[in-house]
Amino acid sequence: MDFAEPRVIGHREHGLSPQQVSSGARKVVHALCEAGFSAELVGGCVRDLLLEHVPKDFDVVTDARPEEVRQVFRRARLIGRRFRLAHVRMGREVVEVSTYRSLPTMAGGDYEVHGEHGRILRDNVFGNRDQDAMRRDFTVNALYYDPLKNEVIDYVDGFKDLQAGRLRMIGLAAERISEDPVRMLRAVRFQAKLGLVLDQEIEVLMPEMAYFLRHVPPARLFDEVLKMFHHGHALKVFDDLYRYGLFAELFPAAARAFIELDLESRTGLVRRVLINTDQRVKEGKPVIAAFLFAGLLWRALLVERDRRVSHGTAGYPALQQAAGDVIGRESQRIAIPRRVSIVMLEIWEMQHRLQERRPRMIQRLLENKRFRAAYDFLVLRAGAGEVAQDIADWWTRVQAVTLDERRQMINALAITGDGRKRRPRKRRRRPVKTATP
Ligand code: ATP
Ligand code: MG
Repeated sequence: MDFAEPRVIGHREHGLSPQQVSSGARKVVHALCEAGFSAELVGGCVRDLLLEHVPKDFDVVTDARPEEVRQVFRRARLIGRRFRLAHVRMGREVVEVSTYRSLPTMAGGDYEVHGEHGRILRDNVFGNRDQDAMRRDFTVNALYYDPLKNEVIDYVDGFKDLQAGRLRMIGLAAERISEDPVRMLRAVRFQAKLGLVLDQEIEVLMPEMAYFLRHVPPARLFDEVLKMFHHGHALKVFDDLYRYGLFAELFPAAARAFIELDLESRTGLVRRVLINTDQRVKEGKPVIAAFLFAGLLWRALLVERDRRVSHGTAGYPALQQAAGDVIGRESQRIAIPRRVSIVMLEIWEMQHRLQERRPRMIQRLLENKRFRAAYDFLVLRAGAGEVAQDIADWWTRVQAVTLDERRQMINALAITGDGRKRRPRKRRRRPVKTATP
């Protein structure tokens, strides 16, 4: 393959200044160049700086091999099994330094899936900078910035694309997607996060190639899904995934179970969960995977529970069994770690008890570790018309009042019989064991 000469873009045009690069990364580039190697910043950080976003981190690439990087920085740690790279500590900062890589073969590169084309057997496939540029996913992700010369180096017209607000793949999109179908998800993520417009060619291909996602290891999809949904643009990501036919590949049971109401633009539960997630990210509040998955899979859970109830299973065991079933099936696509599925189950199980408001249970519910998440979910369900608003409001109030007032509120429930009255139990029902994955 022929490589075009790179376009070197000067300060006047790119407008960056080396001071925008973290001091650690600048020192790393400087030291590598002093030692006679070439080194630049690359990828997300250059793209983000040019878009006037704050980069998450600064990645350095170089023609020095990992062992050579370690000779330059005695405090470098080599990590990664298949493709080794170095972590260089600079004060508080850790700078990732990787060596230029050559073009992937059908299944090369450390990020590639192990699809039907077989396992990746080769280790370090080092290359030149021009090869390194070509194996990257999008043109805007393949820009190099040299902070010493204050130059941007561009092999693939990434700079022009950034200026035009275009997200375009390097090379033939169909080929690049089949090499690594996760690039479709990255396209959706970057489009939402950066406000770039996706190339039409990719838009057309995605519905046709969505099923390629089935070849991606489920654990990698879990990570990608969180990256997509937990960065403040979950709603846009969801709409795009849906539009491109990718959502049904990631969450088949959820996609089948959704009813129109769930997707209603403002009131639908799914949309409310996503809007809430975006809001929390914007406010710097923590977001958890369990809440997102509990929300996306809620309708699938209800459908499965109702099916079991209609076959004669009692409500509570039906819910538990349905949860095991829905999570188990979903995990075949997206590996939901056990620590996450446990919390999902807790959020789901608490819904009924929060709605019931049995006076003797209130205090225990309030003290439950998952109360906050379960309550947040209840509020969203109320907003979606699934739960009486006054029940959600009652829970909001009971958290805000003094202990005395709380006692009064609980007593009032017992008197008005709002909370379910206790019936004498005939016998204890044994909890039904379900196989949650
Ligand atoms: P973010 O800001 O979300 O971290 P990023 O572009 O830095 O975005 P990373 O996943 O950190 O994304 O990857 C760093 C760089 O590595 C990318 O900019 C891209 O050049 C390259 N890259 C990552 N994943 C792939 C992939 N699947 N295919 C091709 N190139 C990739
Ligand atoms: Mg990055």
